[in-house]
Amino acid sequence: MMSGRARVLRLAALTALVILIATAAYFARRALTEKQQPYTQAGFAMGTFVRITVYGNESAKAAVDDGFRRINEIEALVSTTIQGSDVFKLNSAPIGVPVKVHQDTAYLMTSAVEFARLTDGSFDPTVGRMVDLWGIGTENPRVPSEEEIMQALAGVGYQNLAVDSERLEAMRLADFFVDLGAIAKGYACDQVVNVLREEGIEAGVVDLGGNIRVFGVKPNGRDWRIGIQDPSASRGSYIGTIDIASGAVATSGDYERYFFRDGILYHHIFDPSTGYPARRGVRSVSVIAPTGMQADALSTAFFVMGVEDLFDCVNRWQEVEAIVVTSDRRVIVSSGLADAFEAVSEDYTYEIR
Ligand code: AMP
Ligand code: MG
Repeated sequence: MMSGRARVLRLAALTALVILIATAAYFARRALTEKQQPYTQAGFAMGTFVRITVYGNESAKAAVDDGFRRINEIEALVSTTIQGSDVFKLNSAPIGVPVKVHQDTAYLMTSAVEFARLTDGSFDPTVGRMVDLWGIGTENPRVPSEEEIMQALAGVGYQNLAVDSERLEAMRLADFFVDLGAIAKGYACDQVVNVLREEGIEAGVVDLGGNIRVFGVKPNGRDWRIGIQDPSASRGSYIGTIDIASGAVATSGDYERYFFRDGILYHHIFDPSTGYPARRGVRSVSVIAPTGMQADALSTAFFVMGVEDLFDCVNRWQEVEAIVVTSDRRVIVSSGLADAFEAVSEDYTYEIR
């Protein structure tokens, strides 16, 4: 027989154990849900909406703040309009005179010239004068005269942008303006991911105006699902979705910045060989690639190239996939995405290439 005292002690020990287990379970669950709770912050930078979502760290806010700071840093270097930016300084410097630039700028310019070479000039960072001339996306867009277009076109050519990435210098060899608007946002996405990772964030999504980069494993273990915008419908209406485990998705579309004159739509993606908005029957190109910078530069280049040439590239380049929406309402999906892509609109016909 147990004494009364022993019984009380046993009961007390048992109660303590139950409380201990319950407390441990409570904190374990809280830690898990905290880890699974996304933390999102939205803002405006580089002329577009930015949205950063992260999982898995109690210092999420501080990390995301640093991510936004990194975007602002890059914008201050490569903006064409911020006086004192590297690009502004280069565009104002005399032709043939080297300008000191920051490491980020040198890297971006070197990469831009590489993408220009790789895409045979469909992507070209020297289109700045065309951008200024047409003013698309500004308060006063206009259709310039033939003569003005020829003038703006005269200096265009990536071969005329010299970058010395060791001395951190850049130089214009002809009369053009540098514009990194088609590559800088993707690069900024990559840089934000680096910052977040350095600060212990394990997974998340960075969306910089349609340049999306995902990293890490989503708490539910599934792939990241990304919607592909319907060029003819309101924002958030999709032609389809893709599921990716990692990497970047960037979309270039004629619906992003444009104006109408005499019933014709003029958009912001220029064909560097004509000086006019690219017109090859494409409404949008989404590129899936390992980095944001690749996806950004290539989506712009592919838009200019048109369907045939772009799929030549996609089929040659292992790590690059594409989804193209054409003017005649076809959605063409590269074969590497056959399983990852899901069609959601009845307004289009779908094909795999
Ligand atoms: P994205 O939205 O990434 O396709 O970039 C479009 C922006 O890049 C434009 O607003 C211009 O500033 C610039 N741009 C336009 N056409 C080109 C081109 N063919 N190559 C490189 N940059 C371009
Ligand atoms: Mg781009």
